[in-house]
Amino acid sequence: MSTTTIKAYGAKSKTADLTPLDIERRAVGKDDIKIDITYCGVCHSDIHTVRNDWGGSSYPVVPGHEIIGHVTEVGADVKNFSVGDVVGVGCMVDSCQTCSSCQKDLEQFCENGATFTYNSPNKHIEGTQTYGGYSTSVVVDQKFVLSVPKNLDEAAAAPLLCAGITTWSPLSHWNVKKGDKVGVIGLGGLGHMGVKFANALGAHVVMITTSPEKGKDAKALGAHEVLVSKNDDEMEAHQGSFDFILNTIPVGHNMDPYINLLKVDATMVLVGAVEPMDGFHGGGLIMGRKHVAGSLIGGIKETQEMLDFCGEHDITSDIELIDMQDINTAYERVTNSDVKYRFVIDMKSLKS
Ligand code: NAP
Ligand code: ZN
Repeated sequence: MSTTTIKAYGAKSKTADLTPLDIERRAVGKDDIKIDITYCGVCHSDIHTVRNDWGGSSYPVVPGHEIIGHVTEVGADVKNFSVGDVVGVGCMVDSCQTCSSCQKDLEQFCENGATFTYNSPNKHIEGTQTYGGYSTSVVVDQKFVLSVPKNLDEAAAAPLLCAGITTWSPLSHWNVKKGDKVGVIGLGGLGHMGVKFANALGAHVVMITTSPEKGKDAKALGAHEVLVSKNDDEMEAHQGSFDFILNTIPVGHNMDPYINLLKVDATMVLVGAVEPMDGFHGGGLIMGRKHVAGSLIGGIKETQEMLDFCGEHDITSDIELIDMQDINTAYERVTNSDVKYRFVIDMKSLKS
C-alpha cells in the first residue's frame, strides 16, 4: 500500500526524551477520513506508555489520543463527514465490530482487541504499530471519527476525547444524579473534567486532593467543597457520606481511606491506577455493602453523546497551550501534578 511520510514527535526508548521523527500514514481507503491535526491533548497515559510503566510499549512511541483536526479527504464510502469538518479522534481507531462488546457499543472492550490510537499493531501497514496525535495528520476509519460541536473552542475541546469520556462514562454508568454527593480524587486532566461533569449533572461535588493550593481552582471549576486527603481530621469529618467517588490517582495506592468515605451501597470507580494496588481491608467493603469498580474510556456512541452534551452545556477543558517542542517539560510538570489542568499541543508548531 502507498503511504505518505509525515512529521511527528516520539520517544525511541523508555528513558529517551521525545524528539522529532518521520512516520508513515496510509493512503485514504473507501471508509477512511484524512485529518489535518490542529490540536492534541497530553494525557498522563501518554507518559505511562512512553515510560513503559504498564509494560508492552514498543518503540518508537508516538503518543497522543486527544486529537482535534480538520477533514482534508474522505473515502468513497464515507457518510456524515466532509472536507472542512472539525472532528475528533480519541483513544481507539478500530475494533472488530462483530463481537458482543462491539455490538453493545463498547468497542473499548472489543473481545478481539481494539486498535488503540497508538502502540497497537497497525492492520494497514504491516510490521508497524499505530502512531498517535503528536503528528501533523492521521487517517482513521469513519466509525472512529467524532463530530465536534461547532460552538466549542477547538483547542479546549481536545481533552474531551480522552479525559472527557473517561470521566463521563462512569458518572453515566453509575447513574450519578442531582443531589448525589460525589467525590473526585485528583485534580489533573481527568479530575477537572470529572468536577465539571458532576457539577453539570447537579451533584454536590467534593474535590479530594493532595494539593491544598488547588482548592480555589477546584471551586472555580465547579466543586462545592474541597477535601484535603492528607488531613486526617477532614477525612474523618466526611466518613460514610459519599454516594459516588471517581478515583483518578495515576499510581497504585492504599484505597482504605477513600473506601471509608463511601456510604452504604456506594461505589468508588478507579480510572487512574492501571497497575497493582496496595492491599485493602475487606471489612471496609463488607461493613456497608460497598463497591470498588473500574472503567476504561467509553465507546464511540457514548463519546459522541458526551461531546453533544458538552456542546449543549458549553463544557470544554481548562488548558495550557504549548508548542510541540515544549513536550518534555510538560511531561515533567504532569508527573509532578503541576498542570492547569490539561496541556494541549498547538500542532502549528510541528508544521512550521
Ligand atoms: P494527571 O493530570 O497527572 O492528574 C492526576 C492527579 O492525581 C494529579 O494532578 C494529582 O492531583 C493526583 N495525584 C498524583 N499522584 C498522586 C498520588 N500519589 N496520590 C494521590 N493523588 C495523586 O493525570 P490524568 O491525565 O488525569 O490521568 C490520571 C490517570 O488516569 C493516569 O494514570 C492515566 O493513565 C489514567 N487514565 C485512565 C483512563 C481510563 O480509561 N481508565 C483514561 C485516561 C487516563 P492532586 O494534586 O489534586 O492530588
Ligand atoms: Zn488518555
